[in-house]
Amino acid sequence: MRKLIDKLAVERTLTQDEFKHILSGTDPYLQERAAKARDTVYGKQVFIRGLIEFTNYCKHDCYYCGLRCSNTSVPRYRLSLEQILDCCRLGYDLGFRTFVLQGGEDEYYTDDATLASILCAIKEHYPDCAITLSVGERSRASYKRLFDAGADRYLLRHETADAEHYSTLHPAHMKLASRKQCLQDLKEIGYQVGCGFMVGSPEQTLDHLAADFLFIKELDPHMVGIGPFIPHADTPCASEKAGGLQLTLNALSILRLMNPNLLLPSTTALGTIAPNGRELGVLAGANVVMPNLSPMDTRKKYLLYDGKISTDDDPRYCRDVIDRKLQAIGYEVVTARGDYIDL
Ligand code: SAH
Repeated sequence: MRKLIDKLAVERTLTQDEFKHILSGTDPYLQERAAKARDTVYGKQVFIRGLIEFTNYCKHDCYYCGLRCSNTSVPRYRLSLEQILDCCRLGYDLGFRTFVLQGGEDEYYTDDATLASILCAIKEHYPDCAITLSVGERSRASYKRLFDAGADRYLLRHETADAEHYSTLHPAHMKLASRKQCLQDLKEIGYQVGCGFMVGSPEQTLDHLAADFLFIKELDPHMVGIGPFIPHADTPCASEKAGGLQLTLNALSILRLMNPNLLLPSTTALGTIAPNGRELGVLAGANVVMPNLSPMDTRKKYLLYDGKISTDDDPRYCRDVIDRKLQAIGYEVVTARGDYIDL
């Protein structure tokens, strides 16, 4: 096992079978090696991103997601520009220098001008901050328009790199090929791009995960967002099992060894399946955390999965908790944009 981990650290990729072998292991050497790789680039610094969940309307019906359009038990909302700027103001005061605007695929924003004006307003007030968008699949022209309006980064998880598995998680009209095309377009336009997947999603096998790593090798993204799948009661996946902690940590370490420079979040979903999940993620090689800056009264309306943490905690408190938890394991949360380091 250790030889294989060393091989991954040097060659930055493995064969499908070798990836599967590491994924199912429990040797702490994997995490140690991954943490060391991260430390050589980013030291003990962890970047924070302020997550602003600005709309929970979604036209899609992904089988795993609590925001799916068929879920009629969610009250839907959109934040006004003033509410979004309030989130940014609070975040800026707390030391956030990246804001992540995330939402469902909301038809209201088909008029790119709406989103572009939000981006321009944030950039005008906070020119030293980076903006990450995470609003799903759009046309190349739309991505370009939003980039020109000030978006720096874009998160679009590919969810699974296996087309057949993709079709078990999504309605028939959604295609893996169009996700991949979007990621390619985003990269070519000049965004710092993040793809990613859920660990332990329904019917996922180790072969699927190995295929995810090979796809990521090929795409060579700046960020990768992964977290365990967690069931949501009002979805067709309600009775599925949640993804495992060890498997998620192993996947994080593998991604870190594949690219020591990667911006790799320790996600809220990881903090949801284990009380110290986000610290364990950092110890496994992650270097980003994304606390929630959304207004308190909308938090419970943005539930992708059940049991999501921090829906009752205000941002100041969350920032303090993260600071203390990470300090306790030897890491420091920094006030910085935290751009990708291209060596
Ligand atoms: N509409 C945006 C944002 C989607 S929500 C987009 O399409 O990119 C962000 C991520 O949450 C998704 O990409 C998915 O990987 C994750 N997610 C959704 N439902 C989940 C669940 N039940 N458990 C864990 N993660 C989930």
